[in-house]
Amino acid sequence: METSQSIAELDWIPRPRLLALRRLEIETVEDLLTHFPRRHEDRHEFPEFPREESDIPICLCGEVIKTSLRRFGGWKKIFEATLQEAKPNVLSEPLVCRWFNLHYVQKMIATGQRLVVFGKPRLRGKRICMDHPEFEVIENDEEISIHFRRITPIYPATEGISQRVFRSIIYRLLNEISDAPLPTLAPGDLVDGKRSDAIRAIHFPENWIARDAAREHLVLSEFFAMQMLIASRRSESSIRIGESHCGPGALLDKFLKTLPFELTGAQLKVITEIRRDLAASQAMNRLLQGDVGSGKTVVAIAAILLAIESGFQAAFMAPTQILAEQHYTVLRRWLEPLGVRMALRTAARQEESFLPLVAGDENADVIIGTHALLYEKVSFSNLGLVVIDEQHKFGVAQRARLTAREPAPDVLVMTATPIPRTLTMTVYGDLDVSIIDEMPLNRGKIVTAVRDDSRLGEVLSFLRTQLEAGRQLYVIYPLIDESDKLDVKAAAAEYELWWERLHPSRCELLHGRIPAAEKQEIMERFRRGQSKALISTTVIEVGVDVPNAAVMLIENAERFGLAQLHQLRGRIGRGEHKSYCILLTSDKSKETAAKLAVLERTSNGFEVAEADWDLRGPGDLLGTAQSGLPALKIGNLKTDADLMRRARAAAMSIFDADPRLELPENQRFRRLIVEQQGRTFSNVS
Ligand code: ADP
Ligand code: MG
Repeated sequence: METSQSIAELDWIPRPRLLALRRLEIETVEDLLTHFPRRHEDRHEFPEFPREESDIPICLCGEVIKTSLRRFGGWKKIFEATLQEAKPNVLSEPLVCRWFNLHYVQKMIATGQRLVVFGKPRLRGKRICMDHPEFEVIENDEEISIHFRRITPIYPATEGISQRVFRSIIYRLLNEISDAPLPTLAPGDLVDGKRSDAIRAIHFPENWIARDAAREHLVLSEFFAMQMLIASRRSESSIRIGESHCGPGALLDKFLKTLPFELTGAQLKVITEIRRDLAASQAMNRLLQGDVGSGKTVVAIAAILLAIESGFQAAFMAPTQILAEQHYTVLRRWLEPLGVRMALRTAARQEESFLPLVAGDENADVIIGTHALLYEKVSFSNLGLVVIDEQHKFGVAQRARLTAREPAPDVLVMTATPIPRTLTMTVYGDLDVSIIDEMPLNRGKIVTAVRDDSRLGEVLSFLRTQLEAGRQLYVIYPLIDESDKLDVKAAAAEYELWWERLHPSRCELLHGRIPAAEKQEIMERFRRGQSKALISTTVIEVGVDVPNAAVMLIENAERFGLAQLHQLRGRIGRGEHKSYCILLTSDKSKETAAKLAVLERTSNGFEVAEADWDLRGPGDLLGTAQSGLPALKIGNLKTDADLMRRARAAAMSIFDADPRLELPENQRFRRLIVEQQGRTFSNVS
């Protein structure tokens, strides 16, 4: 039997089951074999009937000596079956199994039968009971040996197929393919043992050690396949024809002299790394990670200046129009005095005019824009460097599109949201990484506090003292949809309220539906200190830099994600004043408390990201689909980080030795990569 064979050819699978499997996207024998258990249960038979409660479920076998059906509360029913331990000479308490309102159970169980049950024993009055145990009437012993008296696989819950049916199908399949080799491409020095043994043991392990070893084998092969795809992308860009885009640095020096501050050591370090990449003839593919406020923009400008000094154009791409406009404003302020020519291109502007670049723009040294830059018909005449801000909102496919031209431009990707370090090697595994791990010195401390809504009075008087001390204030609202009229109305109503609360300090309202020009004016008045408080939606999240605004109140804080709260908080603590971030909530749930406590505990974005990951669990944190990687079937990016490191090293060493996979012994990996790419594309669409 070939593992690529369709399950339709397995004539022992009844048709309705086949359809149900198909609905789970299980098409081939391989799909079925790699439908891995979510967990396992120890269902080895317990040596004796329990006398006490236990939180660990146990497996018992006994004879039914009595059944009864009782009614309670009118129409509700309890069915009870009393089990007696079948061993002679043992005098143990009988076990009462109970099912509530499960009509069908009563039809299946009768006095005199032998029964296997699995569940948690509980003391109810004087009786030892098991409520809703998994059970089976023993008729043939093989069936029992699949579901009980062993370490039993529990599959991901699915519609249309029960656990037991699934288990039986896979059990039978494993028997049918008993001698098929199940080849693997993972190198022998990476994984132990044979894949066929690992597959068998992950479903029906002999013991826990065998289960763990099988899992390690399978996770390593899965990670290896993924890292081969990543390494191939990395290798592809490193062998693509590039060129050096690095001027001598006089322009950069001039810029640094105009800055009102000294660069941090971390900024200098990453600029050195980028400079080396720009100078090299291979294309740069570098990720710049740094916490909000760590000064990534200055680093990006440094790269841009080096590139344009050597005679090339640079593109600076932001995920949103607001961000693009903000970068444009910042860069113009700094670069036009140096004689750098700049142009702004955003999707909105393009729609208005239906024109390609405005006349003269072709000659710009720096073109700032949104993703729309990708789809422009106008080609850059001379593109040497692309800076992409906030990569997490930007798919790999889009990035590939940019860099497909030849000679390839250098690419610098910046993330606004730090991600856990162990994730970087996967999600951004095809990039070299620079990290700004130091904040500018002049930053005041930020104190973060969570407050219940009921303490608003206290909070208000604190805000008033801050205003009296001369500070300015942000009040943030979680509007779900910026375009929603109702939400805007709600914000407007809140605004009136704040007007009264903060009187005589002047406040203004800011949200996404205010026209751009007016927005600018509102921001300008706030920057100049003419208004003291901004009542705002999350439009404030990006691009606002007012050092005197040292207080932020976030309403309904529970509605935001941790990363976004951290990003919002990054708007304060920008001046020398001590800053305060107050997270207001009426949500008393444990989840919210745990989430918000993270922000009280730390203001380090990397730590926030780690904690976010801990709290959210191994879910699809960053949208692996967007990262262009196939979904994982067994590995866990968080708990298996060490295995990922090993798989990565193995994949990298293959490409280090043979960047184009030309050696005969490496041909087999090509298929692996193509296959992964196939799965990737189906993910993206
Ligand atoms: P982010 O990394 O979040 O994009 P920015 O680049 O917007 O941060 O920088 C935040 C603020 O810090 C800006 O006002 C910037 O001018 C300022 N800044 C950058 N580097 C330094 C530095 N070394 N010392 C002081 N201020 C700095
Ligand atoms: Mg930024």
